[in-house]
Amino acid sequence: MDLYRPILEKALFPAFEAARGRPTVPLLRYLHGTERWSPDALHDLQAGLLRRLVRHAYAHTAYYRAVLDERGLHPDSFHAVADLERLPLLDRDLVRTTFEARTAAGPPRWVIKKSTSGTTGTPVVVKYNAESRYWRDATRWRGYGWGGYRIGMRAMHYWGNPPAYESWVQRQKLALDRKLKRDLYIDCIPRSDQALGHAVHELRRFEPQVIVAYAAGAAALARFVNEHGLRTWADIPVIVGAERLWPHDRAQIIEAFGPAFETYGCREVMLIGAECEAHDGMHTSMETMIVELVVRDDDGTVRAARPGEAGQVAITDLHNLACPMIRYVTGDLAVAHAAGPCPCGRGLTKIGPIEGRITETLHDGDGHAVGGLVFNVLFGVMDHVARNFQVIQKLDGSVLLRVVPNVGVRLPDKENRAVHDVAAKYLPGIRFSIEYVDEIALTPAGKRKVVVIERPVPAAS
Ligand SMILES: [Zn+2]
Repeated sequence: MDLYRPILEKALFPAFEAARGRPTVPLLRYLHGTERWSPDALHDLQAGLLRRLVRHAYAHTAYYRAVLDERGLHPDSFHAVADLERLPLLDRDLVRTTFEARTAAGPPRWVIKKSTSGTTGTPVVVKYNAESRYWRDATRWRGYGWGGYRIGMRAMHYWGNPPAYESWVQRQKLALDRKLKRDLYIDCIPRSDQALGHAVHELRRFEPQVIVAYAAGAAALARFVNEHGLRTWADIPVIVGAERLWPHDRAQIIEAFGPAFETYGCREVMLIGAECEAHDGMHTSMETMIVELVVRDDDGTVRAARPGEAGQVAITDLHNLACPMIRYVTGDLAVAHAAGPCPCGRGLTKIGPIEGRITETLHDGDGHAVGGLVFNVLFGVMDHVARNFQVIQKLDGSVLLRVVPNVGVRLPDKENRAVHDVAAKYLPGIRFSIEYVDEIALTPAGKRKVVVIERPVPAAS
């Protein structure tokens, strides 16, 4: 019996959060109530928060004042969620160029600034205020909770590791944080038999109560466990994210570990959607954001995707007043879900599956598999020097990294070294080079591919 978890959940965690001035626990309690509201009541809540956001953005940001004035709009003309359609989409390039103009002149001030590459290969900088951060934290705990992850559980994170850019003090603080919360982090990028065997060894030793993983990483580990008959544990729920979860990968994960729960999020706004026990699409985080799936028709008009149709994900972050993001296009495609009650009883609307977010697997010089998101974490902290990147593994095995520099014509020495360090660590025995380009072409289907594996052209018959 696990006596520490209830103590951690009920006493220690709330105390930690309260000591840091974070209302995570009361917000989580609130979200457990609102998730049962009717869709109409939730839309009313969103409309109220949207009005507040637009009013603030109009009063305090140069960008949104100009946008509303140009269209002859006033904040008071926003009565319902549908009124959002009067505002333009915020594409990733526009996010970058309007960064200063979207930063609010009045309080609340931003307290967190971070850059992100998501999985689309285009880094973006976001800033947000404390309130936004609290909602993000609580929303994440709520969504992960549907997959059985309760505060205080022993959690194994099979994830991409951030580069060691932080100071010693930050690293110690992080290690202490992880120990108190009982988190074990294992790098999921190396996928050789040896690396997978090590992960299984750690899993047996640590006995996690939940696993949080990159989807393709969890699938590779699951396949290894199943092929070698290594499972010796009772069901462990697996919460996956960062990449799309394919049905065949889900089947492998269930066999190797236990039920799989897909989540979808990005560092710009955190958890956007999470799967419940009904395993049929992901409930969106309606109390913290408005999630739209939009289709841009050939004539330039923008409309909502119909049920079953894929649309571009556009997010309005309802609690970020410091640097508002309204109708921010994340670069992902998601399939619209038919409206209707979920068997779980929650009123939150659903989306999914996510299309795109597919990364291919690379191979090192010994032929060992390497996760395709290998450079993403690094580029997430290098947005100031690189606008876009793409990894290409050529037929001869060599790896070419195409980079669109942000300023100048190449990466500065420090960042250049960091990229080569990552390549040397994860792709040993591979000829690695960087090519600087002005832009990276989309696929014929209009998608951005972060990883391209060149394959032999089949001989003509
Ligand atoms: Zn549900």
